[in-house]
This record gives sequence, structure tokens and C-alpha cells, in this order.
Amino acid sequence: MDRPLHELHWLGCATKRCCTQRTVIPTSAEIWRIASQLDVPPESFLRAVPTQYAHEPSFLLEPNGRRMQAALLRRALGGNTAACVFLMQLGAHNRCGLDPLCPIACQVFPASTDSAPPHLAETDVCQCRQWSLADLDRPRIAAQLEQLAQERQRYQQLVAAWNERIQSDNRTATFAEFCAFLLAEQQASAQ
Ligand code: SF4
Ligand code: SF4
Repeated sequence: MDRPLHELHWLGCATKRCCTQRTVIPTSAEIWRIASQLDVPPESFLRAVPTQYAHEPSFLLEPNGRRMQAALLRRALGGNTAACVFLMQLGAHNRCGLDPLCPIACQVFPASTDSAPPHLAETDVCQCRQWSLADLDRPRIAAQLEQLAQERQRYQQLVAAWNERIQSDNRTATFAEFCAFLLAEQQASAQ
């Protein structure tokens, strides 16, 4: 399989600093794909964090409460460091344990996911090399960003319905209940 240059660098990179420094927000479709294919509940690999990215869906767990986002869980590595729960440490070399299920936000990095057309993310997360636009397979990333935009739109709709329910029922919910709602809705639309 032909892999774009940024993906080959990613495979060869031992440190995977991008997997230890970033907060990754998967779409509801990605959450569903990971949960159903690994046969694990979403709350085993997700955490609710206060909203960090305006372009990602934000949900409520209580009426008029703080807006939250579902991010990939991080686990402590020792010292003050932590990493994505799916990062596998193979001796000195780190690898992603999700591989084809890895979120688009990870697959396109160091491209930004905040808007099209493909451009480099404004971040100092990667300190392994100096990226340039020429390193990116722009047609491929454009297609991935298009898929991401569609999945995000669906996620936004689900979150809007969930938030309306929380407000109208005037009740408090758990993060596990929010995850169960997402899974049920994604499962229904996959059938
Ligand atoms: S973006 Fe940087 S830190 Fe991440 S895998 Fe590539 S080279 Fe390594
Ligand atoms: S899902 Fe994989 S590529 Fe993305 S942050 Fe986690 S370990 Fe890294």
C-alpha cells in the first residue's frame, strides 16, 4: 500500500510525541467503530474534558452545566508524562494500537482538522522534524477531512438532540449514559 510521506514518518517515529501531547477528540462514528470492533464500552477509552476546541461538538451532563467534550483517555507513563491509552510502548519504539481504527485527527496530523483545505496545524507538538506543506498528501488529506466534516456534522446533530433532552428533562446524566446514547444512535444509523 502506498503511504504518504507524513504517514511513513509517523510509522518510523519512535517517540510519537503527538500521541503524548495532544487531546484527541474522536467523532461519534469513530467512537462507535472503536467500541464495536474492540468490543469495549466507550467509557473505557474516553474521558469527558471541559470544551477545548470550538469546532468540535460539546455536550452537557447537567442543565446549564459546563460544556464537555469526549476525548481519548490518557494514561500515566511515569514522571509527569501521560499518553493516549492506545499508545503501545514496544521497547524504545511507540506504536498506535488502533492502526486502521485510529481517528482521522490522528491520521492527518500534522495537518490541521479545523478547516479545509489541508494546511499544517499551528502547534509545537511535533519536535522531531520541521514539517512543510509539501510533506502532506493533500488530495488524500482533503478526502479524509471531507469524511471528518460529515462525521462531525452527524455528531453535532446527536449532541444537539442529547443537550435538548438534558435541558428539557432538567436532569443530570453520567458520562456513561452519554456514551450509551451515542452508541445507540450510531448503531441505528449503521443499520
Ligand atoms: S508528528 Fe512528530 S511526534 Fe508525531 S509521529 Fe510524526 S514525527 Fe513523531
Ligand atoms: S489513537 Fe493512536 S495515533 Fe491517535 S493519539 Fe492514540 S496512539 Fe496516537
